Amino acid sequence: MAYLNENYLKLQAGYLFPEIARRVREFCEKNPKAAKRLIRCGIGDVTEPLPKAAINAIKRAADELGHRETFRGYGPEQGYEFLRSAIAQNDFRDRKVDIAPDEIFVSDGSKCDCGFILDILGDQNKVAITDPVYPVYVDTNVMAGHTGAARKDGSYEGVVYLPCTVENNFVPAPPKEHVDLIYLCFPNNPTGAVATREQLAGWVDYARQHDALILFDAAYEAYISDPNISHSIFEIEGARDCAVEFRSFSKIGGFTGVRCGFTVMPKRLLARTESGKKLPLHPFWHRRWSTKANSVSYPVQRAAEALYSDEGRKQCRALIEHYMGNANILREACAKIGLDVYGGTNAPYIWVRTPKGLTSWQMFDRMLCEINVVVTPGAGFGAQGEGYVRISAFNSRENAEEVARRLKELK
Ligand SMILES: *Cc1c(COP(=O)(O)O)cnc(C)c1O
Repeated sequence: MAYLNENYLKLQAGYLFPEIARRVREFCEKNPKAAKRLIRCGIGDVTEPLPKAAINAIKRAADELGHRETFRGYGPEQGYEFLRSAIAQNDFRDRKVDIAPDEIFVSDGSKCDCGFILDILGDQNKVAITDPVYPVYVDTNVMAGHTGAARKDGSYEGVVYLPCTVENNFVPAPPKEHVDLIYLCFPNNPTGAVATREQLAGWVDYARQHDALILFDAAYEAYISDPNISHSIFEIEGARDCAVEFRSFSKIGGFTGVRCGFTVMPKRLLARTESGKKLPLHPFWHRRWSTKANSVSYPVQRAAEALYSDEGRKQCRALIEHYMGNANILREACAKIGLDVYGGTNAPYIWVRTPKGLTSWQMFDRMLCEINVVVTPGAGFGAQGEGYVRISAFNSRENAEEVARRLKELK
């Protein structure tokens, strides 16, 4: 019989979203009337339809594939040049950030990239992860055998957790100890926090001093409204020597179902062998992709390219303004009933302190039962998330306004 990867046994059984689904299902079965007015502000998935520019590009690409003269089979494993050039120009060079098209690797989304990156990194790395956090960073390290067993509060032995608290405005400072790999995500899911340039520069300094690698998740960069906040880690001097960036079209262009994202892997980035030899990571990342994948479908890459057209940009902007309008409504509604609220100004998530010492799950249950609104318990994102819930702004305007009204009925 084949042996199992037993690291999977360390993963926590009651994973956050299945547990939410279970509680919601149970509630709906017992309260069919309330079930009809249920509003979900839980999972971070977009709700509004795709931008027209993307739809048209998919249709055109499908037509091309339907004719012998314009048919295309396998594309380049790293992604088509037309898309990588559009990305390098629009997301980086137009912002005076020097990133070349061949430093871009197109994929079917950044969740995958966040996990795949471990393929080319050693198992000896000491890993630092912010807490609370997008669960993918932790769980992929658990699966790869980089952690010990889970503790009672859901944290794992062997990981250096970086607490994100009210005291540090949910942006942790670099640790005193040495680490090799650091996962950062700004604007942050779940807290909605952003790091200032100075804070990011502090991380880049740390990484260069310690020869550490920053894995920077910028999935929500398009939600930044403050002109002083960096959209990319590469806006910080020296970051090309110590950071990889993950980007996604999921939240920018409503691509959660279409699937497209990319990594930025600077050619200068080095990693070491056990014997101390320093080698560039870029060829290994390229090798990883060309061996294990055949990139993303042609129509999807054309759709992603279309988001950079004048029309596409306007439509993405409108989507983001829609969600951020919701965020503003929800933020104000929470503040009005006396809750402490964070985030929601440069990110589509509102991070709400639970009142009177309620745990996150107690607050979740109260909101479900009393006002039939589903939120996400902060404790599901890490030990430091206890005492908070996350409210997502991904919704229709009608639903956001209704949630704001119902919040006033919360006892
Ligand atoms: C939604 C999200 C992503 C994007 O994931 P995709 O796989 O590209 O859909 C990445 N990171 C974070 C923190 C997210 O919330």
